[in-house]
Order: sequence, then C-alpha cells, then structure tokens
Amino acid sequence: MISFEEAYTIVTNSPSILQTERIQYTDSLHRILAEDVFSDVAMPAFDKSAVDGFACRKEDVQLQADLPILETIQAGQVSTKEIVPGFCSKIMTGAPIPKGCTCVVMVENTETINNCVRILRVDNKENICFKAEDVKEGQKVIAKDCLIKPQHIAVFSAVGYTEVLVYKRITVGIISTGDELVEPHEKPSGSKIRNSNSYQLLAQVTSLGAKARYYGIAKDTKEETYEKVTKALAENDVILLTGGVSMGEFDFVAEVLTQAGITVLFDSIAVTPGKPTTFGTIGNKFCFGLPGNPVSSFVIFDILVKPFLFKQMGLVYTAPEIRLTMDFAFSRKKTARRLYIPVIIENGLVNEVEYHGSGHILALTIADGLILMPVGKERIEKGEIVEVRLI
Ligand code: AMP
Ligand code: MG
Repeated sequence: MISFEEAYTIVTNSPSILQTERIQYTDSLHRILAEDVFSDVAMPAFDKSAVDGFACRKEDVQLQADLPILETIQAGQVSTKEIVPGFCSKIMTGAPIPKGCTCVVMVENTETINNCVRILRVDNKENICFKAEDVKEGQKVIAKDCLIKPQHIAVFSAVGYTEVLVYKRITVGIISTGDELVEPHEKPSGSKIRNSNSYQLLAQVTSLGAKARYYGIAKDTKEETYEKVTKALAENDVILLTGGVSMGEFDFVAEVLTQAGITVLFDSIAVTPGKPTTFGTIGNKFCFGLPGNPVSSFVIFDILVKPFLFKQMGLVYTAPEIRLTMDFAFSRKKTARRLYIPVIIENGLVNEVEYHGSGHILALTIADGLILMPVGKERIEKGEIVEVRLI
C-alpha cells in the first residue's frame, strides 16, 4: 500500500500523450486551449455610450435645463453632428460618442418635451465606455492551457479567433467486471445486481470532455477479462476497469493486467473508500483498476483519475474547494488511511448525510461534497474549519 500523495504523484507525472488539433471555435466548449489568444481589435473599438440616453456636455447638465436634440444616434451608426454648448443628441447603448460629448445622461433621468430634453436628476455619471479600456489591440486575452467555457467562446467571437487550437480528447475504454452484474435494463434476480459503475464512469469521463467507450461486463474469469482488457487497450489511450481488484478468490484484474503486458505501478492506496486502486502502464497507454463499490469508484475517479485525464488533455486540474465550518463532530479509530466523508452544506455549515459505506450510492446524490480526514487524524470537532471538495 502506498500513500495517496505517492499515488497522485505517480499518475500525474506519467509521460504525456498530449496532441493538438485545430477546430471550429463553436465546437470548442469544454476543450482545453493549446495556444495563447490575442485580440486583433481594441475593445471597445471606439468611445461608446453605456446607456440609452442623451449625449451632452457635462457643463450643460443642470437640474431642469432644457437641451434641444440635434439628432438620434443608433448603435452601428456614426454621428454627424458635434454637441455644441446647450444642445444634445439622443444616443443608444453601444452607439459611438459624438464629437463634443463628455457625458451621457441616462434616459431615466430626463423627460422629453417636443424636441427638447429636460434634465430631472443630476447624478454626475459619465456613462461612456472608452476606446480600448477593456482590451488593447494585440493584447493577449486568454492564456493557453485553460478549460474553454461559454465566456471564453464570447471572447473568441469578439477577437475573431474562429479556428481554435485545442488538445486532442483522449479516449477512455470502460469495463466492469463481476459475475453478479446485469445491465440496467434487466431486472436483477437472486444474487444479481445492476451495473451502475460503468454508467457512472461513462458520465464522469464524458463530463471532462474525454471520449468514453464502453466494453461491457466481463465475467469473473481470466479469459473474459483478458479479452476485454486487450481489446479496450488496443482501441484507447486509457482503460478503466471496475471491480475484481480486491483480494477475493475471483478478483483477477491485477493478474490479467500483468498478463496483458501492463506494468502495475501500484495496486493499493491508503484511501478510504478505494484502497484496492490499481494503476499500470504499457507503452503510452494507461490502465486504472478501480474498486467495485460505486462510491469508491466515484471517489477514486474524482481524486485520482480526473486529475490524470485532465493532465493528459493539457489541464492542470485543481478541485473546487470551499472552507466551511463543521456542524457535526466525526471520529474514527483507525487512522492509517486518508478518509473521504460525503457531506451536505446547509445554511453555510457542513452537515452529515446518511452514509452507510461505499455501496451506498444514494449518499452521493444528496452530498454537496467530500471532506477529507488526513492520515493520523482521529477526530474532527464541531466548529472546526474544513475544506469541502465539491462534487
Ligand atoms: P469487487 O471489487 O469486485 O469485489 O466488488 C465490490 C462490491 O462492489 C461488490 O459488492 C460488487 O457487487 C459491487 N460492484 C462491483 N462492480 C459493480 C458495478 N459495476 N456496479 C455496481 N456495483 C458493483
Ligand atoms: Mg467482483
């Protein structure tokens, strides 16, 4: 058994299989950017109005002043008339500021009588967005190696970056093992249970932007496990197996991985849930053997596989964590492993969820996050501040 820290270092320092490709910016959501992006324009490109209102000279904006309107300036138009003393122009949000204008009075602070504007309130706001105040022409707007979110797509659009260089999505083959498993559309009878891990893993992998492929359930035989492992390995960058990694008489995964030529780098880590986690490599391919219990599989994916997959797609992942106060105390006797406990956030405090152990998948649907009890720690007190890892 190795520590979680050692396991984390091993998986995240694995040789990189990063490759890049250029794709349409509209297809780049949730991909990872592989080059810096620069703007070919200033933003704003010209001084523009931040509000719908009247383009004035500051000195003319007095309570009850009446200012005749010279023209109406729409967004996308260019004004033709200079604002001369005592006059104004009607202006729309986003329209260019006319010559002579030093402030825009918002329409809510005025009333229009015939072709004249009366100032009803003076708030001394300029309401002008100045040329290049957000971005200068040629400026770097987004640094490489970031996860592309909708707000990045807005920037790509605004700077005309329509062909985006991203890291290639890696492919992940998923296999579940276990004679007891039937697929979800079947009603399990007797000693059978439905396979939930495969579908949880497919969803977890897909949510990172990697490509998941499913290889079905392998019976607890060396032959069937070997067959699925070698096929999935040939067709993917990474394979994930669940079940069959413990010390049971029909837990063949470790043996089969070795038989398939995989060098097993560790087969047990000091984490609860998830001790029998296995990791191995062959050439530039990787394999995780995850525990069969669905909560363990979920947690190990989140803390170990996710950072690994992201790294192999160009992103250094840090989990979202928030510091909050415990509203319950928790203690344990054995402290040799780090322990993850599902928790719920209520009224800004960390509370317990009903959790019966690593088979209890419902607990994770209620939980907002996981808290960590480090190795050696026996008790967390009510009132103690903890980091909640959001899930
Ligand atoms: P194992 O690691 O194969 O000993 O499995 C540990 C526990 O997880 C057993 O109770 C299994 O029935 C259960 N389990 C294994 N694989 C799955 C799966 N794909 N979906 C749901 N539960 C599973
Ligand atoms: Mg099993």
